[in-house]
Amino acid sequence: MTSAGRFAPSPSGELHVGNLRTAILAWLFAKSSGRDFLLRVEDLDRARSGAEAEQLRDLQAVGVRWDAAVVRQTERAKLYEAAIARLTADGRTYECFCTRREIQEAPSAPHAPQGAYPGTCRRLSHAEREIRRATRPASIRLRAEVSEWGVEDQLHGHYVGVVDDFVLRRNDGVTAYNLAVVVDDAQQGIDQVVRGDDLLSSTPRQAYLATLLGLPVPEYAHVPLVVNNDGVRLAKRDGAVTLGDLAAVGIPAERVRDLILESLQLPAAPLLDALPHFTPQNVPKTPWVWTTPRA
Ligand code: GLU
Repeated sequence: MTSAGRFAPSPSGELHVGNLRTAILAWLFAKSSGRDFLLRVEDLDRARSGAEAEQLRDLQAVGVRWDAAVVRQTERAKLYEAAIARLTADGRTYECFCTRREIQEAPSAPHAPQGAYPGTCRRLSHAEREIRRATRPASIRLRAEVSEWGVEDQLHGHYVGVVDDFVLRRNDGVTAYNLAVVVDDAQQGIDQVVRGDDLLSSTPRQAYLATLLGLPVPEYAHVPLVVNNDGVRLAKRDGAVTLGDLAAVGIPAERVRDLILESLQLPAAPLLDALPHFTPQNVPKTPWVWTTPRA
């Protein structure tokens, strides 16, 4: 089995400098530790997919290269269903009929952490379940036996977060992100997950699920996001933030790459030349404030 890191964008729109910086960091972490680097397109949400070609083009434009064919989640339904079937056989799943509103309005279970699923459908009797089945399609939830789980993160140290009865398959049949990511990382031999720290709070759920499935838990590094001048996570509305926008104001992809590397205290150079200077310990712990430079 290979040892690999990865970047796993959702192809919902063009990548901005924040996404590109995370991709470069993931590449640097992987390559500096002798790993392969893989690219996975997280296109489960078909309605919000369509920017794959632009994303791959922009990653290449800043020098990111991957070592195997691109993997797409929409081509892997069998793997996800096999994992759900296994959990179901182990008595670890149940059907949930709750609407979003019902979840919001349900009294939270005693001792349940903030934001956790209140467990309404976990406690349905057989008869109640039959009635609900006739009203709407079910999602499938994990029957979690813990309420929190700890992970080790290279930047955040020991991190403990909420584990609830999270969704494995949505009621429209689409595999949930938390299940797909765990199955894919293990199946692709990915043992290093580097991604934005907005995803840190999902990580205990994913590590717990991997453990239930008998899969190895990867090492994690959740890296700081890029923010605008107000300290808010960078978004398309923050002006010239994609390679296309930046090229239009006279800033080519190489310069964007250089700015990203400089924000990481690395030499402005092609990625292979910057690589020997990279050490995970030196990754800044605070967000990078992006202001569009002058051409
Ligand atoms: N597809 C997710 C995103 O673009 C990232 C998933 C991950 O890195 O685990 O936000």
